[in-house]
Amino acid sequence: MSRFPRAAFFKSVAALEDLPVSMGEIAFAGRSNTGKSSAINALARKRRLAFVSKTPGRTQLINFYALGEERFLVDLPGYGYAKVPAATRAPWEKLLGGYLRFRAPLRGIALVIDARHALTELDRRMLAWIRPTGRPLHVLLTKADKLSREAALKVLRHVEQELATLAPNFSVQLFSSLKKAGLDEAEAVFERWLSPKERGGSRGPSPE
Ligand code: GDP
Repeated sequence: MSRFPRAAFFKSVAALEDLPVSMGEIAFAGRSNTGKSSAINALARKRRLAFVSKTPGRTQLINFYALGEERFLVDLPGYGYAKVPAATRAPWEKLLGGYLRFRAPLRGIALVIDARHALTELDRRMLAWIRPTGRPLHVLLTKADKLSREAALKVLRHVEQELATLAPNFSVQLFSSLKKAGLDEAEAVFERWLSPKERGGSRGPSPE
């Protein structure tokens, strides 16, 4: 049973002013093609939920999936897909950087990484953005089914060690959307992040 059974596409956002009122949300980041959409779909037990983010015109947007009670899973634009011209990159970085830094209801970041490749240079760059925000980080080493158990555990230890030097507040696990492996562990983390806290709903402070 999904812990997010009512997940449904809510909206795509191109500007910080358009972020919805939220009581808590988890943002999914990751390189394109690592399995971020598949992971969101696996968590929601819906086959095509996160494919909204792949439709033309939405790949550079922040896509919100409502969980009910003003809580959200948030699909951040995948990075590293193609050489993005500087003119396109600037507004994208402003949107993403502003979101990660100023979004008050953002309870934590799920970083999706292909277990076969471990951390890449682009992931390290993303971690350098996340680190100063002090947000909790949970890394899903996905496509773990493509590795032997032994090789997967080796990657897990390796990434764990590297993250200890790059992120102040992290956890990491093996995951497979294909085999539905690691769902309970991930859901427990995300559910804890989304559990009600005193802080009420807000859009967060506005960037200058
Ligand atoms: P995204 O670009 O990060 O959203 O990646 P997708 O979710 O679209 O996945 C990219 C490709 O990897 C697709 O062909 C998926 O079927 C495949 N894929 C995603 N997750 C897994 C997984 O856990 N195991 C395996 N074997 N393939 C996966």
